[in-house]
Amino acid sequence: MIKNKKIDWDNLGFNVIETRSMYEATFNSSGKWESRGLKPYGNISLSPASAVLNYGQGVFEGTKSFMSSKGQAVFFRLKDNARRFAASSKRLCIPEISTDFFIDAVNEVVKDNLDYIPDNDKGSLYIRPLVLGTGPMLGVKPAKTYTFLIFVTPVGSYFKSGLKYLDAVITKKYHRAAIKSIGSAKAIGNYSGTLLPYKEIVEKGFDEIIFLNSSNEDILDEARSANIFIIKDNILKTPALQGSILPGITRDSVLKIADGMLDLDIEEGDVTIDELLNADEVFFTGTAVVVAPVGSVSLDSRKYKYRRDFENSLTKQIRDSLLDIQNEKTKDPFDWITKVK
Ligand code: PMP
Repeated sequence: MIKNKKIDWDNLGFNVIETRSMYEATFNSSGKWESRGLKPYGNISLSPASAVLNYGQGVFEGTKSFMSSKGQAVFFRLKDNARRFAASSKRLCIPEISTDFFIDAVNEVVKDNLDYIPDNDKGSLYIRPLVLGTGPMLGVKPAKTYTFLIFVTPVGSYFKSGLKYLDAVITKKYHRAAIKSIGSAKAIGNYSGTLLPYKEIVEKGFDEIIFLNSSNEDILDEARSANIFIIKDNILKTPALQGSILPGITRDSVLKIADGMLDLDIEEGDVTIDELLNADEVFFTGTAVVVAPVGSVSLDSRKYKYRRDFENSLTKQIRDSLLDIQNEKTKDPFDWITKVK
């Protein structure tokens, strides 16, 4: 496949690079989702009174297509993104898009942008579906019309300098989401509240922030856009999905890989600050970060350090197992991979 020469394929980061096309569907007075197909990547026009602009009635997804080691374009657990998109939509009173409609739409846009998928060792094509309440609404009520968009963009590593141990910090100043609110939906409104906390920790030299549970500040929730895991004495543990945490697809994959392929003991439950600070290994998971090792966690200006021996870590084994499945370097015992069709 001839690759676009304007793109620096060897130095992809995590930024928007415009591609050929994006997908659009609309929901209006007909009361059903109707595909509008592909259009050139570009701006959209919105009513200033749209529900998304005024009340944040919108949800999104994030998934990737890989050029696998077999030389074919594949998706990883796309159906799970479709299901989560529908679940998030339901929570925000957005008309749900069926799994098949979602999967067909993603295939359509990826197929038209195949030449934007980086080579196997250079990165992946990040896929961003979003659904927005576009109709005007003055009162706080669901919009009457909606737009479903999907854009794609080639990405390399989420972290500028490649894989490195992250210096994380626990915040007692901010929460990400309340347990009975919209934290478990991938709602656009969950992210703006993390901008200031993140800005403040970056100014202090940290890489990532860990939010505590809003009802119990002894236990962890997650990071801004990644779930958290600890390993202690070969037991892999992660916070249970109790309402304020996004049910990460990487999180679920790591649990299944650890249990089914690596024979680790797994636990989902309350992860206390003490357990975090006394862990052997700590890592974040997410579509963008994959499995990202944590080198230190700071709390109240004390820094707790973990062993930085990635080559001999369980974190590496988990990360490699996941990447090998995604890249079709190993067999896929869970049937997670589907071909772009
Ligand atoms: N938590 C939050 C708040 C997120 O936005 C994400 C990214 N989708 C994750 C966790 C990780 O989820 P996934 O593994 O499905 O990307």
